[in-house]
Amino acid sequence: MYRLNEKIKDLKPYDPVEGGYRIHLDANESFLRLPPAILGEMEEALARAAFHRYPDPAARELCQAFADYYGVPVENVAAGNGSDELITVLFTGFLQRGETFATVDPDFSMYAFNGYLQEARHICVPKGEDYSLDIDKLIETCQNEGVKLLVFSNPGNPTSVVCPREEIRRLVRGVDALVVLDEAYMDFSDQSLLPECLEYDNLLILRTCSKALGLAGLRLGFAVGQKPLIDAVKAVKSPYNVNVLSQALGTVVLRHPQALRDALGQILQSRDQLLSGMEDLSREYPGRFTLLPCATNFAAMKLPDGEGLFRYLGERGIAIRYTGGLVRITCGTPEENRAVLEEMAQYFAAVQAAEE
Ligand SMILES: *Cc1c(COP(=O)(O)O)cnc(C)c1O
Repeated sequence: MYRLNEKIKDLKPYDPVEGGYRIHLDANESFLRLPPAILGEMEEALARAAFHRYPDPAARELCQAFADYYGVPVENVAAGNGSDELITVLFTGFLQRGETFATVDPDFSMYAFNGYLQEARHICVPKGEDYSLDIDKLIETCQNEGVKLLVFSNPGNPTSVVCPREEIRRLVRGVDALVVLDEAYMDFSDQSLLPECLEYDNLLILRTCSKALGLAGLRLGFAVGQKPLIDAVKAVKSPYNVNVLSQALGTVVLRHPQALRDALGQILQSRDQLLSGMEDLSREYPGRFTLLPCATNFAAMKLPDGEGLFRYLGERGIAIRYTGGLVRITCGTPEENRAVLEEMAQYFAAVQAAEE
């Protein structure tokens, strides 16, 4: 009789919030559909696409469009089937079994998961009370524990907090480990290390099309770094990792910088609406929750019973996330933001009434 090995026998598939929700504010996607003009160009690109052939393994056109949009040299870019795939590629290629990787806590769960599958040794460095990165502690840990790979997100998920560029710089300079800097949300902030990424031989930056660029369904992520690192990524990944469809359609979208900037502006407006509503709530119900400083497209809040708020909203058809001890709410359309703010107001009113 065949038995699954110890490593995988108790694993469960990734479980996104699913079910009959009317409002999805749980996955930090963009709430915007693509504009008709871009959809029209996509149709033309589809008609030209060679579906009977394997895709370009180097995804050259797509990488060129990404490189042009972000102002980096194309030879320093590798494309992945979402940055999720690139995270897996980095853990399988850049870590040997039993070697040590470090993460921070709380952070994106896929890092620790991939390290676990790779049978690597894991060191986790907690974030501070205010969810800032403890840079000194990270440098000390990396140098004393022989860390080969350090990975974290900036701005952070699920905290929404951004660490100043200068501090990240000090960290990258201070360690021998490969630093994988996941800038999935950096389009919403201004502390990117992308412009100076090529100055460091131990820095790989990950970016994704799933958040600010509004293409979560296409599955496109990118790694940027010095050529030896990027060439290694390309050598480790599976050859046809980004399919013909995603390459063609992603290229169309990245060739529309003005449309992307307009969309970003709308998302930032939505986030400001959500945040100012939450600030009003925190004045109305003082001490009930703490809103973390926001550098992304989601609000992060700390409260005694996060699970309770998560369930309350879920029962009313609104999906959010409760993870890493924080409630995380993606900004949505103006109506969606209003709906979640109204339900939250009722929740806090009910909690308050129950205490009186
Ligand atoms: C959403 C997210 C990603 C994006 O992953 P994709 O596979 O590109 O969709 C990567 N890192 C973090 C921290 C995220 O929150």
